Amino acid sequence: MKQSLWYQEMKWPEIVEKAKDCDIILLPIGSIEQHGPHCPVGVDSLNAQKIAELVAEKTGTIIAPPIWYGAHMYHQYGFPGTIPIRSDLIKEFVKDVVRGLVNNGFKKVIILNGHGQQWALIGALHELALETKAFIAIATWWELAREAVNEVCETKFVHADECETSVSLALYPELVDMSKAGKESAPTIVDRRFFGGPAHMPEDGGFPGHNITAFYFQRETYKLGILGDATKASREKGMKIVDAVVKKLCDFIEELKSRYPPGRSPLESSVQAK
Ligand SMILES: [Zn+2]
Repeated sequence: MKQSLWYQEMKWPEIVEKAKDCDIILLPIGSIEQHGPHCPVGVDSLNAQKIAELVAEKTGTIIAPPIWYGAHMYHQYGFPGTIPIRSDLIKEFVKDVVRGLVNNGFKKVIILNGHGQQWALIGALHELALETKAFIAIATWWELAREAVNEVCETKFVHADECETSVSLALYPELVDMSKAGKESAPTIVDRRFFGGPAHMPEDGGFPGHNITAFYFQRETYKLGILGDATKASREKGMKIVDAVVKKLCDFIEELKSRYPPGRSPLESSVQAK
């Protein structure tokens, strides 16, 4: 009987043994959010889960039960299909899940994120690190594959667009209806040149930094819920992006394995920060 990649499908003695053998675990988190009339509302969660499966297969890691829901920015509230969870709840929920994984021997937890909610997760990471001394990373797929995304796509990645639809076509084409794909642009409350921060957004689109949050409510400004051009999506483009994400994550896991054997967290290292 082949051992499952998923924690929830394993028996407890198998989990105990697995943590001794490899204490790195993936925790996929996404959201339930409209992704245009052509993609399912589970896109963010499905992307994280399917990528986690590809990575687990290659690295011998396992995957924690996925978190299907996520925290949402204010302007995403109210669009049909979307089910936002309050950010404090998501943060505390993630903390409880990670505590449980650490208590079961998984001292390295990689939160594989498929939704724009890093702002809600980052506080959990810092609080958990202080409390548990476990190594916790938040890996957001499009950040890992930024170079590939820019190379493969003609348009900047935002939402349910060329990039995200391509990834959906690569991972679960049976749930995508390209005959409904469309194109919409993103109006903002103030000019884009006022946006800044680490993810500085150029005039032609892309993700905003958080210096100024200036969006109208999507339900009032979008007909389709596509922020970008989904008609440019293709399975080939998606495969290239997925390959880049999987490779980056696998390399990261192999480095973690080689530097920190099972049972040892980098945060318990005797190396002192200078
Ligand atoms: Zn999405």
